[in-house]
Amino acid sequence: MSDLTFETESHASPRSVEERTALMANPGFGKVFTDHMVIARYSAGRGWHDAKVTARAPLPLDPAAAVLHYAQEIFEGLKAYRTADGGAALFRPEANARRFRLSAERMAMAPFPEEAFIEAQRRLVEIDRAWIPDTPGGSLYLRPFMIATEVFLGVKPASEYLFVTIASAVGSYFKDPTGTVTVWLSEHFTRAAPGGTGAAKCGGNYAASLAAQAEAARHQCEQVVFLDAAERRYIEELGGMNVFFVFGDGTLVTPPLSDSILPGITRDSIITLAREDGLTVREVPYTIDAWREDVRTGRLTEAFACGTAAVITPIGRVRGREDDFTIGNAVAGPVAQRLRTRLVDIQRGLAEDRHGWFQRV
Ligand code: PMP
Repeated sequence: MSDLTFETESHASPRSVEERTALMANPGFGKVFTDHMVIARYSAGRGWHDAKVTARAPLPLDPAAAVLHYAQEIFEGLKAYRTADGGAALFRPEANARRFRLSAERMAMAPFPEEAFIEAQRRLVEIDRAWIPDTPGGSLYLRPFMIATEVFLGVKPASEYLFVTIASAVGSYFKDPTGTVTVWLSEHFTRAAPGGTGAAKCGGNYAASLAAQAEAARHQCEQVVFLDAAERRYIEELGGMNVFFVFGDGTLVTPPLSDSILPGITRDSIITLAREDGLTVREVPYTIDAWREDVRTGRLTEAFACGTAAVITPIGRVRGREDDFTIGNAVAGPVAQRLRTRLVDIQRGLAEDRHGWFQRV
């Protein structure tokens, strides 16, 4: 156990049941926030301290805080689900705690103790339990993050940090959660390079991906497919999701983890579930040329993106400077649908959980 203890200062005037119900009627994604947040402070001399659950409020920040200049920032994303019996559960929070620590190490930040990370998520879900939607696609999205707060303009790892977790009541990530997405092949912009920060969940990676995301939006695409930085041949991942390719012979292919791919927890869960289902999963490099060719010959039957926000989203169409092809008639394929159902059922406590992924709060 971490010896960091969280004090609780309940909100003096939380929103009324009526206000909350109105806000949660159509929450969208990442716009409706709960009443509380968790914070903790770090300084080189004292370590982590001042941990508390408190009323959600703006953060006072000095204009010279290091994060505002050199982007020493990391974050996570996980969900609390409403269970069938009206309770609440988290999905694999220890995996997020571990990734958060690894991201901190990559960004030369003070690691936040993994037990304290899990405790922070639990405490926020407990106090804001009423904000977990009970709609089929709804959940409480938890956003832990850490920023460098030291007041100093020198370029070096900061000696002071702030850990925060906020929570947002969310509906489906995409407008049509049962449909497919169209993706844009980014041939000019890359997301991450060997030796870079692609495997860390740091804000800078997302800032760097926005020009590609804007290009995708101009071409009516919902997400970007990034290629490797060295050769611009290998598929890496999407702007905010990992990717799988499904073949007619029952094989699944996903790019192998590297220092330029975010190690998705959904990706890892899907590999486990697919293998249990008797499918062969290969973590091997896959090129854009192979993708075009395998769609043309019909060898590839489905492709899907996966991540916490949208779980599993089939890719219906791929567009690029010189590409425009459709996968499996642009409808959700059976493999993606089956894996999605299995995963969602485990997350909500409706199916047997053999791996200890489902954790009641
Ligand atoms: N890749 C990127 C770049 C992401 O931002 C995310 C979302 N965290 C993922 C993959 C999927 O990760 P996870 O399944 O852990 O949400």
